[in-house]
Amino acid sequence: MNNAQSHLWFHRAEAVILGGVNSPSRAYKSVGGGTPIVMARGEGSKFYDVDGNTYIDYLAAYGPSILGHAHPHITKAIVRAAGDGILYGTPTTWEVEFAEQLRAGIPDLERLRFVNSGTEAVMTTLRVARAYTGRTRVIKFEGCYHGHSDAMLVAAGSGPSSMGIPDSAGVTRATAEEVITVPFNDLSSLEQALAKYGDDVAAVLVEPIVGNFGMVAPAEETYLKGVIDLAHEKGALCIFDEVITAFRFHYGSAAQIYDVHPDLYALGKIIGGGLPIGAYGGRQDIMEQVAPLGPAYQAGTMAGNPLSMRTGIACLEVLRQPGTYDAMAKKAAHLVQAIEASAKTQGVAITVNRIGGAFTVYFGEHKVTNYQEAVATDSAMFARFFHLLAANGILIAPSKYEAWFVSAVHSDEDIERTCAAVERVFQELGTIE
Ligand code: PMP
Repeated sequence: MNNAQSHLWFHRAEAVILGGVNSPSRAYKSVGGGTPIVMARGEGSKFYDVDGNTYIDYLAAYGPSILGHAHPHITKAIVRAAGDGILYGTPTTWEVEFAEQLRAGIPDLERLRFVNSGTEAVMTTLRVARAYTGRTRVIKFEGCYHGHSDAMLVAAGSGPSSMGIPDSAGVTRATAEEVITVPFNDLSSLEQALAKYGDDVAAVLVEPIVGNFGMVAPAEETYLKGVIDLAHEKGALCIFDEVITAFRFHYGSAAQIYDVHPDLYALGKIIGGGLPIGAYGGRQDIMEQVAPLGPAYQAGTMAGNPLSMRTGIACLEVLRQPGTYDAMAKKAAHLVQAIEASAKTQGVAITVNRIGGAFTVYFGEHKVTNYQEAVATDSAMFARFFHLLAANGILIAPSKYEAWFVSAVHSDEDIERTCAAVERVFQELGTIE
């Protein structure tokens, strides 16, 4: 595969864009280096790079592109919106309709607000939770990612349930100390943290199905109920970060899958149909903390912009079509079967976590149910896997902590081509081992 043009463009990028990328996850640092592929065009399940190479896309832009590229319904919505003007700075009918549709899908969203990213959505839920409870601390879970606001760039402290430490330069110790990080899928650690800090915990924040150390579901059906109950026992709120999970596995939230009701939600990615978006919402009495009704401030020049609203509406319209989610899950299951069979044939140890149309392939024998288990999987093997897949026209995220996303527009033929590519990749991986 010739990547000469990608090299040239990336070289140019490095001279003007810091690190050559607009988000660090796009660099190939965690897969042993290499030049990121520079894309030129996308259509359906595929995209095409600046050298003219074709890739089947399982990156899905880290989640949002559940309808693939240039979906006609989305494109039509964008063109129509552009014709009507894309930004007013006033209320519009579109934001009302879109909010109504989101609430129809997730009835817990008694009141909601649109923002522009998942980062903003999570950041604001924390402010609202603090405003409502009058408390300061937040408990989150190890390995979960909640965007790049200061409080969310905090790592676990020296022991379980100790105060956090900055996970990024520029985050103050004071901010980090307000955030406690406990392991996912372990109620007793959460219980300990709440016992220690409970009176000052504003919120327990969790990805109900984790998407940020690979796809990891609650190990027990009742885990999330346990998380919510423990939070409530101590007078804290429970916030679900559903930026990845909302409308991912079915037409609604991950909370609905487990029949639970968090107090607040953060949303993003899929709901924008590929345009920048975030949203947060939940219980009316809590949301009434937010200005102009309440004392907690949140605003946004671009918030609820007609372009994102109309694209979001179009995306939900397609997702509502019967059978959409079943088809994605079936295709993903088929692909996973092929991956497991190829790995077995070549004697390469893998473990796969699949939830609906999303899955992560970890290199290692052990099941992955928490962050430490994900860390323990083989990074070097994943790096080879990633590069070999790309060389065979299959693009996934350059990180062992991400997922493959099967979209609504992957065809059976795409899946079969991917299975064949995977077989070739494992043949090479088997030889290297
Ligand atoms: N929460 C979760 C669970 C996420 O996965 C992400 C992004 N990957 C975010 C929040 C932040 O969203 P954004 O990149 O839109 O700011």
